[in-house]
Amino acid sequence: MTGAPPDLVDCVRLAAAGAVVERVYPLARFERLADVLAEPRGQLKIRVAFERLGSDRFGATLAVEAAPRLVCQRCLQAFDLPVNVGSRVEFTEDEGADAADADREICKMTAGRVSLAELAEEELLLAVPVAPICADPARCGRRSVGAVPAIGAPSGEPPQMRRPFAGLQDLLKKT
Ligand SMILES: [Zn+2]
Repeated sequence: MTGAPPDLVDCVRLAAAGAVVERVYPLARFERLADVLAEPRGQLKIRVAFERLGSDRFGATLAVEAAPRLVCQRCLQAFDLPVNVGSRVEFTEDEGADAADADREICKMTAGRVSLAELAEEELLLAVPVAPICADPARCGRRSVGAVPAIGAPSGEPPQMRRPFAGLQDLLKKT
């Protein structure tokens, strides 16, 4: 019988073996992400390269890839934010412990085990900005709340760009 690969893994054993584990999760399963998602679609890929950090210290290098559909806080339209983040962690039973290296985050394990889905959700939440902006110049800002149309300009048309040197250019052509 084949089922889904286990989410809870023995990180001590995997670190001792130098194992690399990959998982794919639907974004819809992450409850803490639900508030920021425009639609519960898409998936997340996490790659965890476990490593031994010392005789009794265990860690991993994480890489997370996803493209959550978020709501732009400027134009209120949905857009896909490509996320490609990584970090280094050390697994420990004692959350208050200091990491072996300064650039490692402490990651709580329970009885030598960690949840790969929780690791993935945490990484993604850290990568999603508090106020995401789609940054698409072709459409962002067009429906912005509180935007005041220029007086005399027909609504719905983009404002005319000012060309301060247009007159000068004409002048140069004539000479
Ligand atoms: Zn936008």
